[in-house]
Amino acid sequence: MKTASAVVPLANPAFVLDTLCTHMASHELAVEFDGRVASTRLPVGRATMRLEPASLALEVEAETESGMEGIIGFLASHVLEFAHPERPAIRWSGFEPSRALADFREMKVVAVADITPHMRRITLTGSDLGRFATEDNLHVRLFFPPRGRPPVWPTRGADGVIEPVEPALRPAVRKYTIRRIDAAKGLVDIDFLLHEDAGPGSDWARGAGEGDLLGMAGPGGRGAKPADWLLLAGDETALPAIARILEGLPPRAEGIALIEVEGEADELALSRPAGFELHWLHRAAGTGLAAAVARVAVPKDRTHFCWAGAEFAEIQAIRRHWVEECGVARPDQLAVSYWRKGEPEAS
Ligand SMILES: Cc1cc2nc3c(=O)[nH]c(=O)nc-3n(C[C@H](O)[C@H](O)[C@H](O)COP(=O)(O)OP(=O)(O)OC[C@H]3O[C@@H](n4cnc5c(N)ncnc54)[C@H](O)[C@@H]3O)c2cc1C
Repeated sequence: MKTASAVVPLANPAFVLDTLCTHMASHELAVEFDGRVASTRLPVGRATMRLEPASLALEVEAETESGMEGIIGFLASHVLEFAHPERPAIRWSGFEPSRALADFREMKVVAVADITPHMRRITLTGSDLGRFATEDNLHVRLFFPPRGRPPVWPTRGADGVIEPVEPALRPAVRKYTIRRIDAAKGLVDIDFLLHEDAGPGSDWARGAGEGDLLGMAGPGGRGAKPADWLLLAGDETALPAIARILEGLPPRAEGIALIEVEGEADELALSRPAGFELHWLHRAAGTGLAAAVARVAVPKDRTHFCWAGAEFAEIQAIRRHWVEECGVARPDQLAVSYWRKGEPEAS
C-alpha cells in the first residue's frame, strides 16, 4: 500500500471540507464525516481529510502509483476549486507527481485497414502496455492532437493537478475500445466507426496514416460479468467490445448477441462459443436495437447478465425494459451510452 499526505493552508478549511464532502456524496461516494475528519473509499484507494485550525490535512492510500495519482489529482483539483479565489500551495509528501501521467502512453500508427465500409482498424504501437491487457477494463481514452500541430500531452504539476494546455494545442479526448492487444509486441488495434457528422475521433481516423501520433490513457469500464446466459446488444461503436467479450467466453457459454450495423457489408466474422446466437440488425430494415432487445426473454431460472452499448436514447429504452419489464437486478446488467445523437462527447 502506498501513502501520501499534504497539509493545505486555507482561510476557511471548514467550508472547503464541507463542500468537498457534499460533492463526493453527490457522486455516490460514501463519505464518513464526524465534523472534523472525513474519509471515503474510492475504487482505487482511500482518502482522508482532517480539519485543522488554518489548514486541511489530506491523506491518501492506494495500491498502485496510478491509483495514488488519480486520488491526489481528484483531491487537489477539488480543494483548489472550492477554495477559489484563494490559491493555496499544495505540496505532497510521500509522492512525487511525475510529469507524465502513470496511465498515459504515446502511441504511433503502424497500420490502417478498412475492415468494412464504415469501420477502420488502426494498429498502434507503444511501450509498457501491460496495464491495458485486461479483460475487465475494455476501453481507453484516446487523445487526438489538433492536426498539423505538435502533440502536447497532459502533465501533472507538483500540486498533483493536471496542468492546463493552451486551447489551440489541447488534444480532443474520446473513448474507444481496445479491440485487440499484444502487450509483449507493444501493439493495439482500435476499430473506429467512420460516422457522419464526424467529430475529432472519426475525423482523425479518416485521415490517419503511418507514423501519426495519438495519446492513450486508461484502461477503464467493465465487460460482462460471468453468468450461465448472456445478452450482448450494441451498435457499431460497441461492436469491438462485443467481439472481445465473445472471444473471451468459455466454449460452453450460452446467450444471444444483437448487433446493429448499417447493412450486410458492415457485418464482421466474429468468433464465439458454439451455443451463442449472433443476430445482425440492419439499420435500413428499421427494427432498431431497443425493439430487438425487447423481444428477447431473459431466462429467470439461470444466472444471467445483460450488457449493452449504443446511442443514449436506445440505452435508456433498453435499461428501462430490463428493469421494468424483465426485472433484471442492477448487478446483472450494464447498459452504457456510447454516444449521443447530435451532441459531441465532452472532452
Ligand atoms: C466506453 C466506450 C467505448 C467506445 N468504443 C468505441 C469503439 O471502439 N469504436 C468506435 O467507433 N466508437 C466507440 N465509442 C463511441 C465513440 O466514443 C463516440 O462515437 C464518439 O462520439 C466519437 O467521437 P467523434 O469525435 O467521432 O464524435 P463527437 O465529436 O463525439 O460527435 C460529433 C457528432 O457525431 C455524432 N456521432 C457520434 N458517434 C456517432 C455514431 N456512432 N453514429 C452517428 N453519429 C455519431 C454525435 O452525435 C455528434 O453529433 C465508444 C464509446 C464509449 C463510451
